[in-house]
Amino acid sequence: MKNKITILIVASILALFALTSIQAYLISNTYELKKKAFIKETDNALDGLDYRNELDSLDNVWKEDLRNHLNDYKSNRITKGEILNKFFTKTDSLNLLHKKLYKEKLKTLDLGYDVDYKEVITSIVIIDGEVSDTIYPLKNETRSKIFGSDFNPKEGHQINTSIWFTESEYIHQKDDEIITDNYDLEVRDISYIQMKDWKQIVFGRMASLFFGSLLLFLFVIGLFYYSIKSLITQKKITEIKTDFINNITHELKTPLATLSIATKSLKNQEIVTSPTKFKNTLNIVNRQNQRLQKLIDQVLTNSLSNEDIVLNKEQIIDNEYFNNILEDFKLSKQHNNLNIINEIHSPEILLRLDKFHLATALLNILENAVKYCTKDPEITFKTILKNNSYCIIISDNGIGVSEKNQKHLFDKFYRVSEGNIHDVKGLGLGLYYTNQIINAHNGTISIDSQLNSGTTFTIKIPIN
Ligand code: ADP
Repeated sequence: MKNKITILIVASILALFALTSIQAYLISNTYELKKKAFIKETDNALDGLDYRNELDSLDNVWKEDLRNHLNDYKSNRITKGEILNKFFTKTDSLNLLHKKLYKEKLKTLDLGYDVDYKEVITSIVIIDGEVSDTIYPLKNETRSKIFGSDFNPKEGHQINTSIWFTESEYIHQKDDEIITDNYDLEVRDISYIQMKDWKQIVFGRMASLFFGSLLLFLFVIGLFYYSIKSLITQKKITEIKTDFINNITHELKTPLATLSIATKSLKNQEIVTSPTKFKNTLNIVNRQNQRLQKLIDQVLTNSLSNEDIVLNKEQIIDNEYFNNILEDFKLSKQHNNLNIINEIHSPEILLRLDKFHLATALLNILENAVKYCTKDPEITFKTILKNNSYCIIISDNGIGVSEKNQKHLFDKFYRVSEGNIHDVKGLGLGLYYTNQIINAHNGTISIDSQLNSGTTFTIKIPIN
């Protein structure tokens, strides 16, 4: 059973782990999809923005300017490096206006979030017949931005790549002759956008999913926890019931066996004819009968819950009442080496208690002090009046109870399973009953014990 539960717990944890991984995978996929959808949405909204009106005409300005520089280059008037210098100086000078116009256009879209942009050049190539001449990038070229803000492209999203392909005419001198030639021009650029706070926006759109997943996750964990806890409780109850059945069978067997032998011997002629032997056998039958009766009573009374306990409170004098209990107990034990140290509070005070139930409760503790003791038993019975409570403190020099077991001591059917405890008879009902009785008096009972160093029970009953 224990193995099965361990397997179940491990399987549940693994299942939970697998479920969490799948959930995390799905959430991360959804995040990627939502991110892409958001970028696409922004891209669609921005679509065509730079090809319209003023932005379009600004593009034409740098294109025209570049073409003129390239013509100069083809006519050997400037170098590649100079083309690029002039080109970037031009785009830099246009950028301020470009950014201003872009922002104005952006405002009209009313996106609800801010968008930055950046347009970078990736290549400028002249194709003259079969020969292609790369103008950009030159070796060690670090500049690339034409328009927009300076942000790291890795922090933005690429939305567009465009190719501008055109034919251009240039005039040059060959052997004192002025000739006009053509070349093709290919310019490639990439556009990036950077949405401010885009992560918050995407996460915001996934909030219901996150919340739902979290709730589901907590629900599943709760369900696992509840199921496993119920299983462990069930297992404990089954163990307790089995223990109880074993204990009660053991307890019933002895008097029944004695009764069986005694009744058989009553048929014996020798015993029937001898009045002394007959009387002795009858006494045995009577004692065993009483023992059985006591056992059944113990099971019946001790199985009561505190709702079923109806107290019949009477006025008692503390000294007299507790002294009587101790005397009766000592007499019933007939233990030569039993030492009871009486520290009952004086002067006497009047208490209102259920005489019968409280006596049974205290006797359970006193009985245990003798039962669970491997030396000559010494019991201290002390009563004190403290803060409107009547305290009864019973200490013994017995085997003690480990801290781990102390918290279960007042549970129904609980018996400590370690040590030589099973040599001692019991049903695990005594302290349960004692606790019920003290609770019914609105009192409390606590234990202070250490293994092999004795036990102290403290009962506190409020008094008016
Ligand atoms: P029972 O004595 O019939 O087993 P109880 O409810 O009276 O049942 O006690 C529960 C368990 O608590 C006992 O089985 C024993 O292990 C432990 N116990 C009770 N009183 C003492 C004590 N004074 N010293 C050591 N162990 C004790």
